[in-house]
Amino acid sequence: MVSFFHTSFRHLTPAERRRITSPILWLMLILGLGLFVVGLSPWVSVEERPIYLGGSLLFTLYGWVLLRILFPYAERFAWMRWVIVVGHAALIPVLSLPFPPIGLLFDVLMSSITVILVAILFGRKPAYLFLTNNTLPRIFVYQKSFLLLQHDFLLIAIPFFSLVLTETVSGVGALLNRKISYLEAINHVARKVGSTIEPREVVNLLSAAIRDTLEADTYYVGIHRDGRLCLEVLYDDGIFYPPEELRPENSLTALVVKERRSRLIANVPKELPALGLTPVTIGKDKMSLSWMGTPMEAGGHTLGIVAVASYRPNAFRPDDLELLESIAQQAALALDNAYHHAEVEEQSHRDSLTGVYNHGYFLLALEEQARQMKAENRSLALIMLDIDFFKSYNDTYGHLVGDQVLIHFSDIIRRHLKATDLVGRWGGEEFAISLPGANGVQAYRVAQRISETLRALQLQDRDGNSIPAPTVSQGIALFPYEADEIYALVDLADQRLYLAKNRGRDQIAPSLQHWRYIVTQ
Ligand code: GH3
Ligand code: MG
Ligand code: MG
Repeated sequence: MVSFFHTSFRHLTPAERRRITSPILWLMLILGLGLFVVGLSPWVSVEERPIYLGGSLLFTLYGWVLLRILFPYAERFAWMRWVIVVGHAALIPVLSLPFPPIGLLFDVLMSSITVILVAILFGRKPAYLFLTNNTLPRIFVYQKSFLLLQHDFLLIAIPFFSLVLTETVSGVGALLNRKISYLEAINHVARKVGSTIEPREVVNLLSAAIRDTLEADTYYVGIHRDGRLCLEVLYDDGIFYPPEELRPENSLTALVVKERRSRLIANVPKELPALGLTPVTIGKDKMSLSWMGTPMEAGGHTLGIVAVASYRPNAFRPDDLELLESIAQQAALALDNAYHHAEVEEQSHRDSLTGVYNHGYFLLALEEQARQMKAENRSLALIMLDIDFFKSYNDTYGHLVGDQVLIHFSDIIRRHLKATDLVGRWGGEEFAISLPGANGVQAYRVAQRISETLRALQLQDRDGNSIPAPTVSQGIALFPYEADEIYALVDLADQRLYLAKNRGRDQIAPSLQHWRYIVTQ
C-alpha cells in the first residue's frame, strides 16, 4: 500500500502541497460563480435556470469538499486515498448525468483536475487506477445518455487528456525527486565527512552515499598509498570484497587516474576498444556494461578514484556522474584533511632531530606494548643507551658534528630493529629501545650489533677529515621477570646503563651470562 501511493512530490510538506493545489480550488469557485451569474441572467430560460444554479452549487461545493476535505484526509488516512481513486473516480461521470450540459463540463473538468491532483499527491500508479475507474462508468453512463454527437469524442478525449497530464506531472515529480535526493546526498556527505578526521570513516561515508543514491551493481574506492592504488572498498553484486591492490594498467581506472578527469562509459564493450583499453574485472568475474569513475583530487594531487558500474548498459546519466563527482570531491577534501591531521599528530610524537619517538610518546607506546605482552604471557626487553663522553665529542668536533652523530646513531638503531620494536630519544644523547617478545639474550645481541655498527661508522669533521665514531654504553632489563611495571623497568635498565658507564663505558650490562642464566631458568 505504501509503495502503491508513492507521491511524486514527497519532499513537499502538506502545506506546500495545499499551496500547489489551491489554484484549482479558485478555478472551481470562479466557475461556480460564473454559472451562478449566468443562471440568473435573462439569457437563460426558466427551465434551464435550475440546471445552471444546481451546477454552480455543485462546482463550488464539490471543489471545496475535494480540496479541503478529501485530499487533506488522504494525507493522513490511506483508506481515503482508495475512496478518491476508486469511489470518487466512478462518481464523477455518474454525478454529471442529471445536469446536461453543465454536467458534461463538470465531468471534463473534475476528472482532469482530480487526475492531476492524484498524480501530484499519490503518484503515477494511483493516477492510472483513477483513470480506469473514471473511464469505465463513463462508457456505461454515456451510452444511455444525452449528447450522442459528443460522447464518442469525450470517451476518448477525457482519458487521453488525463493520461498526458498524469505522465507530465509524474515526469516532473520523478525528476524533482531525483534532483532533490542527489542534493540531499551531497549535503549529507558534506556534513558528515566535514566532522570526521578518520580516513576509514570518510571512505565508509563515501561508500554509503554511493549505495544510497546510485543504482550501481558495483562500486569501488581506490586510494593511492606508497605509489600503489589500494582498493579500500569493493562492492560487487551484493558482496563486499576484502581490500586488495588495484592493478589498473590499461583499464578505465588507469585512464581516469592518468587523465585526472571523470569518465562516463554508457556501453563498455562498445566504447572500450575505441579508447584502446582492455576489459578488466574486479570482484566478481563478470563484465560491467556501463561504468563511470571520477578522480579524488585535493590540494592539487590525486588521492584516488571512485568508480561505479552496472551490469546493464546505459545505466548512468550525466547527472549521476555529477553526483558522483560532488560526493567524491567532498570525500577527497575530507581525506586530505584527515591525512594532514594524522601527519601532524604523527609528527607530534617524534623528535625533530632524529625522527625517533620522543620521550612522552615512547613511554605511552611502551606502556601499551607491556600491557599487550603481559596479556599474551610474553616478555619485553628494554635497552637504555647513552653515548660515551658525548660532551667532549661535541667540544672537540662541534655541535653540528654531534648532531650528525645523533642522526646516524638513531638510523643505526632503527636498522637493527623489527617493525614492532620501538625506539625513542630519552633525552640528549640517551635513547631507549623496546623489544616486545624478546628475551634477554636476544636483546643483548641487538645491543651488541648496535655497538659494532656504531664503531664502524665513518665520520668526517667540518674540514672533511675522518674522525672516530663515539662508543655507547647500554643497560638492559626484562619485563615482567625483573620488573613487572614499566617505570621500575626503566629504572632498572637505567641503573644497569650507569653500571656499564662505571665499569669503563663501551659495554652492555648485565653480561650475556646473566641473560643465558635467566633463559635457562
Ligand atoms: P657519559 O659518557 O658519562 O655519558 O658522558 P657524556 O659527556 O656523554 O655525558 P653528559 O650527560 O655529561 O653530556 C651529554 C652531552 O650530550 C651534553 C650535550 O652537549 C650533548 N647533547 C645533548 N643533546 C644534544 C644534541 O641534541 N646535540 C648535540 N650535538 N649534543 C647534545
Ligand atoms: Mg653520554
Ligand atoms: Mg647522558
